[in-house]
Amino acid sequence: MTDKPVQSDKPLAMYTRHSRKWLHNRYVYPVISRRSGGLSIGINLNPDKICNFGCVYCQVERSGEDVTPEPVDVAIVQAELRELLQSVVDGTLWEDSFFDDVPVEKRVLKDIAFSGDAEPTSSPSFLAVVLAAAEMKRAFKLSGVKLVLITNATLLARRSVAEALSVIKANNGEIWAKLDAGTAAYYKLINQPVIPFERVLENILTAGRQQKIVIQTMVASVGGKPFPVSEQESYIRQLSELMAQGCQITRIQLYTVARDPGEANLPENCDVKAVDGSYMSDFKSRIQRHLNSVQVDTY
Ligand code: SF4
Repeated sequence: MTDKPVQSDKPLAMYTRHSRKWLHNRYVYPVISRRSGGLSIGINLNPDKICNFGCVYCQVERSGEDVTPEPVDVAIVQAELRELLQSVVDGTLWEDSFFDDVPVEKRVLKDIAFSGDAEPTSSPSFLAVVLAAAEMKRAFKLSGVKLVLITNATLLARRSVAEALSVIKANNGEIWAKLDAGTAAYYKLINQPVIPFERVLENILTAGRQQKIVIQTMVASVGGKPFPVSEQESYIRQLSELMAQGCQITRIQLYTVARDPGEANLPENCDVKAVDGSYMSDFKSRIQRHLNSVQVDTY
């Protein structure tokens, strides 16, 4: 899952640094995140960039060639996370010039996010990494810090993933689940998936019955056509039906394209562009008219 998109008009510099590379680290990196409201420590569970979606807006640079799966080394994740958390706790992190423009009120650790250059739950090490992060949070006495899973929701029904969700829930966690469409046809266009749309909806419902869930939605212009109004209506209807069945959707994050997608992700003759602010606010208002218990934020 690519994460941390930024507001399209004039984002602050601190919000535009998205690199998953930090010093010599392989997996763990710091980001100042608008959506988190401060410092988010990301764990990249997919350094091999192999994803089960092929989102047309994906910003992960892929070669387009077959790559060998790269297992995650959990011991290295633990060591990198421990070192980064230690530097947050003792304040030395902020001495790095990378953070020079970050105001004091944003120099607060908000979450540890399971994310990556692909779908984090697809990693066979996902559960082990979640357990390690929960343990580290306890060791550093960071009970207020969230564990956040940023996911495309395709694999939430896997037994080990469901187990990890319980750990996330028990440790001040949140699930941020991608839903970019209201119909199977648009889902196919924008996410280029191998997993049926109905499965994603079922997974969101099952997870959302267990714990609160945040929906993340990309609103882009694809092939010259912005997220159609008919699609917006289907999307609202899907969310409304999920909620009626007990899915605890508390927030929706609408965001648009902030950077050019990686070229290898784009189907031929298909351009992907940001929509403008008024388009986003119209969509937001439409959602709020129908789902008035849900907070809707635009980025
Ligand atoms: S293809 Fe989609 S799900 Fe996979 S990393 Fe890119 S944006 Fe995330």
